[in-house]
Amino acid sequence: EITPHGPYETGFYSQEYDIYSESRLTLMSDLREALLEDRAELYYQPKFCLNSRSVTGLEALVRWNHPQRGWVGPTDFIPLAEETGVVNQLTRWAVERGVRELAMLLNRHPELTLSINISARDLGSVGLKGWITWVLEQYQVAPEKLTLELTETAAMDDPEKGLGALKALAEIGLRISIDDFGSGYSSLSYLKQLPATELKLDRSLLEDIHISESSRLIVGTAVTMAHNLGYEVVAEGVESEQTAQVLADLGCDRLQGFWIARPMPLPELASWLSDQPATAGLRAE
Ligand code: C2E
Ligand code: MG
Ligand code: MG
Ligand code: MG
Repeated sequence: EITPHGPYETGFYSQEYDIYSESRLTLMSDLREALLEDRAELYYQPKFCLNSRSVTGLEALVRWNHPQRGWVGPTDFIPLAEETGVVNQLTRWAVERGVRELAMLLNRHPELTLSINISARDLGSVGLKGWITWVLEQYQVAPEKLTLELTETAAMDDPEKGLGALKALAEIGLRISIDDFGSGYSSLSYLKQLPATELKLDRSLLEDIHISESSRLIVGTAVTMAHNLGYEVVAEGVESEQTAQVLADLGCDRLQGFWIARPMPLPELASWLSDQPATAGLRAE
């Protein structure tokens, strides 16, 4: 069964990837149209703060119910959107939709912050800063409420220029987060250059953390290093209480993952938030 949470139709595009360029272009023009008509959705996954034992943030994740193909996951269309530049339109849509929905949530949950995923390709896009500024003003949301999650990829074709754009975004008060740290492309050299305040440990680092001493050492060392550099540390993809407990013991600041909650559409999220006790979860130290 295909649901907004997956399994997605993974592979439908990668199989056809190089051969049927027409189907790829159709997918992108369908996406453009869906974004223009605001027919995509943002699902929100809570970030649980271990210190306050409460949910303090949300991550927005795009979901798209394609009229013919059904639910299509981000991993199915983001690589192509990056390649074709459509990702710039996706990011602007996500900022507008996300900030609009955050503004509604802030009435009842003033402590919440919102994270939006951006692509390295957005950093070369003229006018992104202006767009974000306009949206924040429109909905009367402070820039400190918005975090941009960035994954380092090969797509950063002009790192110098990208870094400049990122600094300009940080200067207006936006938070920058380094996503998927410890996976594919992320490197230590770029840690010290980015104007970021948060580091997200990739799910792959945590997989065997409850059974492997060396995995615990790696994560523990990464947490210490990140803290020494002044970053808050978020672990993504936490699927069990066991893993959550190890991460708490290793000094992680915030947790995200199915163990806390799956990404949810706005109405479901709103009732989930209302059901949360003021403090919850793991045993006290
Ligand atoms: P990400 O930013 O690292 O997001 C985390 C991904 O892990 C999400 O997949 C989320 O649904 C999934 N996840 C969360 N908790 C768990 C868990 O406990 N276990 C497992 N197995 N998975 C978990 P999703 O939504 O399919 O997104 C995949 C990637 O697509 C994201 O990775 C992000 O890089 C990108 N993406 C998603 N939405 C957007 C968007 O609006 N714009 C851009 N540019 N990229 C996006
Ligand atoms: Mg992310
Ligand atoms: Mg991530
Ligand atoms: Mg990830």
